[in-house]
Amino acid sequence: MSKFWSSIVTRTEPYIPGEQINDPSIIKLNTNENPYPPSDSVENAIKDELGGNLKRYPSPTVDSLRETIAENYHVGKESIFVGNGSDEILGFSFMAFFEPGKTIRFPNISYSFYPVYAKLFNIPFDEVNVNSDFSLDPSAFFESDGGVIFPNPNAPTGILLSLSAVESIIVQNRNQVVIIDEAYIDFARETAVPLVAKYPNLLVIQTTSKSRSLAGLRVGYAIGHPDLIEGLNRIKNSFNSYTLDRLAIVGANAALLDKSYYEAITRKIIQTREWISKELTQLGFHVLPSQANFVFASHKKVTAINLYTLLKQNGILVRHFNQEPIDNYLRITIGSNTEMKLFMERLKRIL
Ligand code: PMP
Repeated sequence: MSKFWSSIVTRTEPYIPGEQINDPSIIKLNTNENPYPPSDSVENAIKDELGGNLKRYPSPTVDSLRETIAENYHVGKESIFVGNGSDEILGFSFMAFFEPGKTIRFPNISYSFYPVYAKLFNIPFDEVNVNSDFSLDPSAFFESDGGVIFPNPNAPTGILLSLSAVESIIVQNRNQVVIIDEAYIDFARETAVPLVAKYPNLLVIQTTSKSRSLAGLRVGYAIGHPDLIEGLNRIKNSFNSYTLDRLAIVGANAALLDKSYYEAITRKIIQTREWISKELTQLGFHVLPSQANFVFASHKKVTAINLYTLLKQNGILVRHFNQEPIDNYLRITIGSNTEMKLFMERLKRIL
């Protein structure tokens, strides 16, 4: 440990991202990226931007992209905040809305970035146990001291909490901010965005990394009451008032405008997910009911770590979490139909 480290560095336990590999011969099903490419309109918008404006700073308020998002969700532009991926917005939100002296709550099986941010910003947290079937009990999140955050659908389980249960958590935390991390919501049914108009304590965070095939561009956005957005802007402008680069702004904007292309690939991914869930069940897996672009599954006989290793030897990368009680589960991203057929073939050979 360096004698020059501050207490912030020493209390930090950084997030460990999933493996990133560029080998095209490997079927990469480990970090929930979209198997299909971004729409042509994204490429065209980026080419146009490359043709002229890179010598200029981007807009500090990113009005064009915020207007597109506002129109998509039928809210005002002042209800939208944009950032470099939803991870950045999650970090800003912890700083803006959670206090060092007040305990926040999130599920014990959840996105592993939350405890990282909580420790970084000295925010005490309670990890609320999920039920034995991995679903969330909404009442366990009622009347928190410092606020609530959870993904919906949850990660890495893929389980969706109903909109009425989500609303009950918001209502029962009226004086605290409730953050719903909707990274995977486009693969599910109901977003909580319409509730933003009713509840000034609700912040919904989404991303273009999953359903819009743009994990490489780093764009996320938050939708909430203008007061919450103003809080996020105060934090953002204390670090870097430009935040998004020009290519990210035009690329994400084009993707969010191209609804029919993305609806079509989302439908394909959902169909593949349902097919894979059935196939895995027939092969002796316990598969959780996923509403995301991945499935979470445990085999009745072969351990997850063995399967992870055997799949890797067969050119398939999935995600294994070395954490009880999910250490016997694998999280498998839904790839293209072709990739998932190969996955099933090789899995059958292994089992
Ligand atoms: N929230 C959840 C639940 C996630 O799984 C991820 C992806 N790792 C993110 C947020 C972050 O996504 P991004 O920063 O790419 O927007």
